[in-house]
Amino acid sequence: MNIQKIYKPVAAQAHKGTQGHALLIGGSYGKIGAITLSSKAALHAGAGLVTAFIPKCGYPILQTANPEVMVITDKVQEHISCIEFTIIPNAIGIGPGIGQEQETQDALHQFLQTNKTPLVIDADALNILSQNKKWLELLPPQTILTPHPKELERLIGKTQSDEETIQKTITFSKEHQLIVVKKGAPTQIIDGDNVYENTTGNQALATAGSGDVLTGIITGLLAQTYTPLEAAQLGAYLHGLTADLALPHTGHESFVASNIIHFLGKAFLTLQ
Ligand code: AMP
Ligand code: MG
Repeated sequence: MNIQKIYKPVAAQAHKGTQGHALLIGGSYGKIGAITLSSKAALHAGAGLVTAFIPKCGYPILQTANPEVMVITDKVQEHISCIEFTIIPNAIGIGPGIGQEQETQDALHQFLQTNKTPLVIDADALNILSQNKKWLELLPPQTILTPHPKELERLIGKTQSDEETIQKTITFSKEHQLIVVKKGAPTQIIDGDNVYENTTGNQALATAGSGDVLTGIITGLLAQTYTPLEAAQLGAYLHGLTADLALPHTGHESFVASNIIHFLGKAFLTLQ
């Protein structure tokens, strides 16, 4: 991956309207933190505007934690039941903390039937897709999926070796025209026959919310002028680099997902 070539500095003439509008959809009672982290990460990845679509119960939490994020609430208190909005985002990330309530599954199905906006899919939205594989046909081409090993296994089935996992993921990516960010140590980005290995990151990233932040970063990049492959590659690289840069300050044990966001600026600065 030639990250330096992918990275585009912010133009001096930029205003928030030219920097992309990212929409993050997720959260459920007890998991509002996931979507709070995700939407905050999208802002710190450079999106000019970020909106979070969340269940009603998350409103005071998210709005207090992230004053820069706009919020649209579902009509239901504790989970997402119907994904409807009038804004026109440039990219949508869906899944962090979303849960698997039946109403949420139905809402996801309905949303996928009409959505044409570039997408990032993570967490329980991936698990819902795994239980409804026909819905994969509804995804816009080059949709980015960000599964951890268990989520990937639910999507492609059990495998006996790393080699078989890669092969099955390549086949899956080609069959559905999807980009798979196969999270792990190291993370690999699989776009059809092309497999890119990320070079940054360490075990400090093995912490709650780490993947939710990655989803926010990739969605924030995708909302700007990056292609889906570029957003996946640059997002994984920056996410990992934060943990490398933070290491002298936090060690492995005390690094938490918020630190990824905190060190994201320092990670971007290495590219300038
Ligand atoms: P999730 O399981 O969805 O929270 O995602 C975890 C994130 O942390 C992914 O981006 C992983 O690649 C990353 N991660 C977890 N453990 C490690 C590790 N030991 N080394 C490098 N990255 C890791
Ligand atoms: Mg996750």
